[in-house]
Amino acid sequence: MAKIIDGKLVSTKIKDAVKIKATEFEQKFGRKISLAVVLVGNNPASKVYVGNKVKACEYVGFNSIECLMDENSTEEQVKEKVLELAFNPEIDGILVQLPLPNGIDKNTILNLIPAEKDVDGFLAENVGSLLLGEECTISCTPYGVMKLLEHESIDLCGKNAVVVGRSNIVGKPMAALLLNANCTVTVCHSKTKDIGAVCSQADILVAAVGIPKFVKGDMVKDGAVVIDVGINRVEGKLVGDVDFESVEKKASFITPVPGGVGPMTIAMLMENTCACAYRRAQK
Ligand code: NDP
Repeated sequence: MAKIIDGKLVSTKIKDAVKIKATEFEQKFGRKISLAVVLVGNNPASKVYVGNKVKACEYVGFNSIECLMDENSTEEQVKEKVLELAFNPEIDGILVQLPLPNGIDKNTILNLIPAEKDVDGFLAENVGSLLLGEECTISCTPYGVMKLLEHESIDLCGKNAVVVGRSNIVGKPMAALLLNANCTVTVCHSKTKDIGAVCSQADILVAAVGIPKFVKGDMVKDGAVVIDVGINRVEGKLVGDVDFESVEKKASFITPVPGGVGPMTIAMLMENTCACAYRRAQK
């Protein structure tokens, strides 16, 4: 039976470390670290995510600025808001909650965020630096996965890693991080042939597909480390992209849903905001 990796525990440790750095920041620079979250419209899932981010800010001692905008806001209005935050020297991080309502172009808005305040690590400048192996802000979810692997002292060097999913915010940066950590990386997607055979070669298997229980026990090698990024709502319950029951019998480590990668994403957002604040303040 696999060891269950406790994302709640690891995320709390990370937030506690951020809390100390946030107090030191305030003593040194005379103000709190500030994270601005822009939420446009009434998407219920987005509201829950923003609520969790605000709670995490309170926990670590950041100032959180919630910019709630009407569902019918124009692209011009959202641009104005993001630019105002971009030019405000007391704002350390800007997060635009996705998805944006129809009619507002995601890239137009995200590209207004200066790279030094891009706490999500979504901008080309940060993604490019990640590929080059340079210091940068790393997308929170894959960064959180790396912290979980590190916490369990899982040796990555020379291991076969398979990432299922190639999105810009999870799959691709995840593959880059594993490659930078000396894994041999394969990325699967919807056009991959015989995905079960590819997955069964993995020492490290990361599922970020968005399909409930996509990865089954027969796709997993004995002793593999299985990380479930998926968050799917099925009949009111949260379900991952991994069939936990069949996979935990074969894996050496597994993350649960909920309580695995989810809390890590928010903890890494706090860590990224703190790092952005220090970088700007020390310039
Ligand atoms: P996307 O929908 O952007 O990407 C899904 C990826 O899975 C795509 O690359 C797609 O391939 C691939 N895919 C879809 N169907 C199949 C299939 N049948 N076989 C193989 N690959 C397939 O999702 P995200 O990356 O944003 O999110 C993935 C999951 O992670 C979701 O459940 C999401 O809710 C969750 N998530 C969790 C977070 C957390 O904090 N824990 C944060 C972010 C996301 P193709 O490119 O060919 O279309």
